[in-house]
Amino acid sequence: MNNENSRNLYDLALQYIPGGVNSPVRAFKGVGGNPLFFKAGEGAYLIDVDDNRYVDYVGAWGPLILGHRHERVVLALREQLEQGIAYGASTEAEVTIAKKICELMPSIERVRLVTSGTEATMSAIRLARGYTKRDKIVKFEGCYHGHVDSLLVKAGSGSLTLGEPDSLGVPKAFTDLTYILPYNDVAALESFFSGQGEEIACVIVEPVAGNMNCVPPVPGFLETLRELCSRHGTLLIFDEVMTGFRVALGGAQSVYAISPDLTTLGKVIGGGLPVGAFGGSKEIMDLIAPDGAVYQAGTLSGSPLAVAAGLAMLEVISEPGFYTKLESKAKLLLDGLEQRARTAGVPFSTNQVGAMFGCFFSVEEKVTHFSQVMQCNLDHFQRYFHSMLNSGVYLAPSAYEAGFISAAHGDEEIQKTLNAAEKAFSTINK
Ligand SMILES: *Cc1c(COP(=O)(O)O)cnc(C)c1O
Repeated sequence: MNNENSRNLYDLALQYIPGGVNSPVRAFKGVGGNPLFFKAGEGAYLIDVDDNRYVDYVGAWGPLILGHRHERVVLALREQLEQGIAYGASTEAEVTIAKKICELMPSIERVRLVTSGTEATMSAIRLARGYTKRDKIVKFEGCYHGHVDSLLVKAGSGSLTLGEPDSLGVPKAFTDLTYILPYNDVAALESFFSGQGEEIACVIVEPVAGNMNCVPPVPGFLETLRELCSRHGTLLIFDEVMTGFRVALGGAQSVYAISPDLTTLGKVIGGGLPVGAFGGSKEIMDLIAPDGAVYQAGTLSGSPLAVAAGLAMLEVISEPGFYTKLESKAKLLLDGLEQRARTAGVPFSTNQVGAMFGCFFSVEEKVTHFSQVMQCNLDHFQRYFHSMLNSGVYLAPSAYEAGFISAAHGDEEIQKTLNAAEKAFSTINK
């Protein structure tokens, strides 16, 4: 496959942009080689600057649940462009989308729009601290909540430790208030809460972990978490930036029937434009400025363009049967991948929740823990990734990212992917 234009652009980018990219994972550090530069998206396909076409399973890292340039989203954007781009003041559409979000997620009675997922989690944590008048927070190993200082921490595997920053520039003092617990470990939750539950402002969790590949919650994990938070006056924050409108119309909270105190959203609700949101009960949300004393603001919050795209997207995904169809397509894909891996003798397993999935190399049982994710065979993944890329299938360039399928992926694209995978698996065992 000819990648000359991408290579040249990458060389140029390296001269002006740190690492040549505007977000680290785009740089292909996890797989080696040069990142591709894209010039267009069309349904299930991405087109790079060398005119190669790829079936896309990244979907802009989640938002594009309808595929690229869905006609309803494009139309909504065109119409809004004719009206105005930004006013820095209130609009009817932002009320419509807020009402729609509250209807789709009953745990949300009031919702505030922001511009990214990071902003949503940062604001939700501040609100939880303000509401509970407590400082300490809990997150889980392997969960990502954006690049908020106090959330940029994971722990040494399995053990319960005080937070050590993952990044230079984050003062230790900022993360001293962050505790890390192992994901899907009910016993660790119980023993932690029996010790210091009363001091914890909030627990933030990805209800389906999607930033250590895709790891669904084990039965009892979210239920225990809900119960312990309620008992200790701790707020439960579901970070549904990835899972919201992705695993089901009502998000992971509808799939697992758990009502969090606060929810953070992003990705899908912007239809591909920069949007985030956080919401919860009226009582908690009333504490946000201007009515309350927890400050939060944003120049471009509720951007008319982003809201127009988001509303168009929400209308389409609210149509009956939308998720059933998407889910069965993902299942078809994953069953096909597992079967081809088995035939080729490559250790491989998959996880799936709705339109979100994970593929794991070198583990054959179901993956439920961070430590199993870490045992994934990186060499196999890299060879698979590059072989798939060469066959015209674009996967996330990291073994620790979830995969996404869109409504634009049809039988033809799935078949193309499976044919590519058959070839990729056969090269792994050579
Ligand atoms: C992507 C993501 C974020 C961060 O969102 P940005 O828009 O990249 O700031 C936060 N939480 C989760 C679960 C995510 O997947």
